Amino acid sequence: MTTVAKAYVATSATELQPGLIERREPGEFEVRISIKFTGVCHSDIHTARGEWAGVNYPIVVGHEIAGIVEAIGPKVTRHVVGDRVGVGCFVDSCRECDNCLAGEEQYCLSGAVSTYNSTGRDGLPTAGGYSTSIVVDENYVLRLPEGISMEAAAPLLCAGITMYSPLRTWGAGPGKRVAVIGFGGLGHMGVKFAAALGADVSVLSQSLKKQEDALRLGARTYFAMSDPDAFDVLRGHFDLIINTVSADLDIDRYLSLLAVDGALIMVGLPSEPLTLRVWSLAGSRRTLAGSKLGGIAQTQEMLEFCAARGLSAEVEVIPADKINDAFDRVIASDVRYRFVIDASTF
Ligand code: NAP
Ligand code: ZN
Ligand code: ZN
Repeated sequence: MTTVAKAYVATSATELQPGLIERREPGEFEVRISIKFTGVCHSDIHTARGEWAGVNYPIVVGHEIAGIVEAIGPKVTRHVVGDRVGVGCFVDSCRECDNCLAGEEQYCLSGAVSTYNSTGRDGLPTAGGYSTSIVVDENYVLRLPEGISMEAAAPLLCAGITMYSPLRTWGAGPGKRVAVIGFGGLGHMGVKFAAALGADVSVLSQSLKKQEDALRLGARTYFAMSDPDAFDVLRGHFDLIINTVSADLDIDRYLSLLAVDGALIMVGLPSEPLTLRVWSLAGSRRTLAGSKLGGIAQTQEMLEFCAARGLSAEVEVIPADKINDAFDRVIASDVRYRFVIDASTF
């Protein structure tokens, strides 16, 4: 038995179109979620447009999912019908490797099962949140706290946790100077979290266009890096920089903005390898690192943190037939700050 779901499907790298997909009936430990809102992450665009290797068409993207539990398998204990829930970028993992046991399922040594572009436990390609329903194991489903609207919660499942996790790992807090490169979907959540954690947070953007918003959302200072003086003014200034940009940046120049022992964390995912001069690291005992998503427990912690602090994403809700336009607008850095699709329009 399967359920038919409406979806927006990429049949090739050109555009998304309406279509129908099948969802399996929930297994013993699975829940079926009626999707209400799905965020548009830049990773959806990289994937749907074939910018990353290994995309299998047709594909349904979307991994910032907020919805309501509408059916549960007989052995489910963590959720009941009617619960407000979320699903992020992965829907399963091996549960046995060191990383899974440590609650870092996103780094599963067998490879976590991605919400889309993986193979699910039914042997079929996984299909993401640009659809009206999804079936997921209860252990990979998050509880959405009361007080956060569904549409503003959806982007927390990827953009939120992707910024929260490195900010916690590298100790953003009082007395730390933190910078976020790129003020988009990830970037605006990074500013909110870093400010809420008590850090002195700056935005390093291409232009001054979003300065007012960034200051309102918690940034202490804001710089347009197109200003020829910006790199000189900020030399050796930051303890932690998180780079959300997927375009090729001059990493040596950004490393020069770190203090001794500072760290530059890459979360934006360029499709091409990058180059840097080792001297940019060794010259001030700096670290260059990367970070991906966060584990299930930390994602739940992040959601509770948001509820306690009154935080969520800044969103623009769109109907499904605006998805292709929305993709173009994200690429043009013309989104404030996350498009979220109203799933009732699929
Ligand atoms: P987004 O909303 O498009 O934000 C990216 C921001 O980067 C833009 O708003 C823009 O900010 C800046 N930017 C864009 N083009 C640029 C260029 N040519 N040069 C310099 N800056 C530029 O995208 P997002 O959804 O936040 O995702 C960002 C990246 O993170 C993507 O590569 C995505 O695949 C990746 N990602 C990674 C993870 C992970 O776990 N590591 C998770 C989710 C997403 P300004 O206008 O302020 O310059
Ligand atoms: Zn994402
Ligand atoms: Zn594992």
